[in-house]
Amino acid sequence: MVDYIGIADIQQLVHRLGTGTFIHRLAGEIEADYRRWAQFEKTARVASHSDVGVIELMPASDGAHYAFKYVNGHPKNTAEGLLTVTAFGVLADVATGYPLLLSELTVTTALRTAAMSALAAQWLARPDSRVMALIGNGAQSEFQAIAFHRMLGIRELRLFDIDPLASAKLERNLRSLPELADLAIVRCGSTAEAVQGADIVTTVTADKRNAVILEPGMVRPGMHLNGVGGDCPGKTELHRDILLRPDARVVVEYEPQSRIEGEIQQLPADFPVTEFADVVAAGRPFRRTADEVTIFDSVGFALEDFSALRFLHKLLGEQREASRQIDLVPRLDDPKDLFGGVLGGSPARARLRRVA
Ligand code: NAD
Repeated sequence: MVDYIGIADIQQLVHRLGTGTFIHRLAGEIEADYRRWAQFEKTARVASHSDVGVIELMPASDGAHYAFKYVNGHPKNTAEGLLTVTAFGVLADVATGYPLLLSELTVTTALRTAAMSALAAQWLARPDSRVMALIGNGAQSEFQAIAFHRMLGIRELRLFDIDPLASAKLERNLRSLPELADLAIVRCGSTAEAVQGADIVTTVTADKRNAVILEPGMVRPGMHLNGVGGDCPGKTELHRDILLRPDARVVVEYEPQSRIEGEIQQLPADFPVTEFADVVAAGRPFRRTADEVTIFDSVGFALEDFSALRFLHKLLGEQREASRQIDLVPRLDDPKDLFGGVLGGSPARARLRRVA
């Protein structure tokens, strides 16, 4: 039997810890895995593009566990009542190749992306950062807000979305959370207004084109930019001149993948960047001065999903009574008799069980 986490299960797991604590603990797991970067088999994700979106497979292994995520990105979906991003994934045992866990990763992707964003900001942003602009107020945005409030101490959030209903939804959701009672929320009429006075700017918009969400004139010395929405070839959010500022330094997750998918796809292949694993390995804040502009060019790397799946599996182990399992792999008296064990006898002999 294979452990299974569906939407009802992830809801329960997150509620039990609280969203902020869940994200914070997951960030710790991700950081621990980035510290052992050399142990991972790393691959840029395999992407299948269409005019309207992308479907990707994201594998990673540390030699003991193997994980993959299936994820899509279809910015036009919301107009049809569908999510832009959905995902699921598997954690497997390298020793036997058997799957251990099949999990939803739509909610988990939002949790892990927020955890990774806030983790990177802890290493890159000014420690006195208290004001964040959040541009793009869709499905990912609450998670980003909660993560930065919890892990960075953000106390003022300045929102902008071209869809005012999305910003209203975000504000409503955040105001319903008692743990965010000390968070000031300001809805703004433009990106330019939202970034006024911001220490950190998070861009998490969805548009399958080279958009310019942030113009060079909007960026002030000392800002940290968390660019989340530019994550595909031909899909970016920052004007390239921001990356080229003499006082700017760019951190990426896995350079070979980010060269194809990140903001840096707009720049020559020798444009200098630092991998996040090197930031963590150096063991000191990445920022050298308070005036530097730091940029986390996030695209999402398979290691973060590996960390998330391992974390989920660990949580299931701690809360065994609540977990569900599915018969994804047959259990046979004779492993060489797949036919007889599954198709040759009665359902009882095949030990088939319905999903719990
Ligand atoms: P979503 O469609 O739910 O929300 C996107 C929001 O951006 C929408 O509300 C839309 O109105 C807004 N928007 C579009 N253009 C805008 C503009 N010019 N200015 C302001 N707002 C604008 O999508 P989502 O699930 O929240 O994902 C957001 C983005 O993050 C997507 O591009 C997705 O691919 C990306 N993403 C990245 C990672 C990562 O690890 N880097 C992980 C998950 C999602």
